[in-house]
Amino acid sequence: MIIDCHGHYTTAPKGLQVWRDAQIAALKDATGPQGTAGPKGPAGPNGPALQITDEEIRQSLEGAQLKFQRERGTDVTIFSPRASAMAHHVGDATTSLHWSEHCNDLIHRVCTLYPDNFVGVCQLPQSPGVPPDTCIGELERSVNELGMIGCNLNPDPSGGHWTSPPLTDRCWYPLYEKMVELDVPAMVHVSSSCNANFHATGAHYLNADTTAFMQFLTADLFKDFPALRFIIPHGGGAVPYHWGRYRGLAQDMKRPPLADLIRHNVFFDTCVYHLAGIELLLKIVPIDNVLFGSEMVGAVRGIDPETGHYFDDTRRYIDQIAWLTDADRQKLYEDNARRVYPRMNALVGRGRQAGQAGQVGAGQAGRHEAHVRSE
Ligand SMILES: [Zn+2]
Repeated sequence: MIIDCHGHYTTAPKGLQVWRDAQIAALKDATGPQGTAGPKGPAGPNGPALQITDEEIRQSLEGAQLKFQRERGTDVTIFSPRASAMAHHVGDATTSLHWSEHCNDLIHRVCTLYPDNFVGVCQLPQSPGVPPDTCIGELERSVNELGMIGCNLNPDPSGGHWTSPPLTDRCWYPLYEKMVELDVPAMVHVSSSCNANFHATGAHYLNADTTAFMQFLTADLFKDFPALRFIIPHGGGAVPYHWGRYRGLAQDMKRPPLADLIRHNVFFDTCVYHLAGIELLLKIVPIDNVLFGSEMVGAVRGIDPETGHYFDDTRRYIDQIAWLTDADRQKLYEDNARRVYPRMNALVGRGRQAGQAGQVGAGQAGRHEAHVRSE
C-alpha cells in the first residue's frame, strides 16, 4: 500500500470560498456579528451552513486527486484543508474557529464519501497573539468526532511576520499535551504569506520548514514530550542539503547528534520535485524518519519538460532509486506513516482494497475538470 501523507483539498467546490468571502465581508461590516452575513442557508453556531452538495464534492475530486491516485498507483492520501487558505491572520480567533470548523467538516465529508482513498487531518483555529490552547477544542472535535488522525500546525499565524514564540516555547505545551493524549502528530505547515518578501510556496513554506527544524534542534522539547511527533513537509526545507551545518551547530551547542534528536519525534516528507533532491533526502535523513508525500494537487502543477512527467509525481523519483531496498520502500510508502499517524490503523487496513481501482468509473474520471487553486 502507498500512503501519501501530504494532500490538501485545493479543488474544493466554490461554495467554500463563497462562505469565506462572506465571512471576510462581514468582518468589515460593523453592524452585525461576524459570520452571520454569509450566503443564504440555515444559521448554525458558526454562521450559515456551506452550500455544497455531495455531487459537487465528488466532481471536485474525480478529475484531480482521485485521478492522480489511480494514474500514479497510490492508495490513500492523508488529506487536509487547503493550507494557503487557512490564513490565520484574517480576523480574530472566532473568525479562525468558524472557518476551521467548516473546512474540517468538509474534509470529513470527503473522507466519508471516499473512505478507501482519504483520511483526514484538521486545520487548527490559530490566530496571531492568541494562546495556542484555544485550538484544543477543535482538535478534540476533529479527532474524536470527525475521525481525523492529525493536525496541521502553523508556526507563524501572522502570515510571514513571525510574531509568535518558537514552537519550543511553553505557550504551545497545552496543545502538545492534548496531541500526545490523542496520539496525533502535527505537520508543521504555514499558510499564505502577507509579507511581500516571501512568496508563499517558494519561500515562506520552505523558510518555515527550515526554521522549525532549527527550533527543535536548540531546545529540549522532546525531553519534555518524548511521544510528540512533527512532520516537517516539503522535504524539510533546506535541512537535508545543509545537514553538515546542522550537525556542526548541534555539536557546537552541545546538543545530541541529529539522528538521535529526531529519531522518535521529527519526520520529513518527500515533497521534493526532482530526482536529485529526493536522492539527497533519502541518503541523508534516516529512512525511518521519511514519509512518502506528494502535496498534490496544486503546490506545483505543471509537467517537467525535462522528464515529461508532473513535477509532483514524487513516486516516480523514488521508484527510480535503485539503491533503496524493498524494506526501505515498505517503510517509506506505508509503515512510517502508520507509525507516525497510528490512528490511521483503525481506519485503513493493510493491503490494497479489493476492487478499489474499479470503485470509481474510469469514464467519469476525465469528464470533470476540477478547478485547482494554488496550494
Ligand atoms: Zn502542504
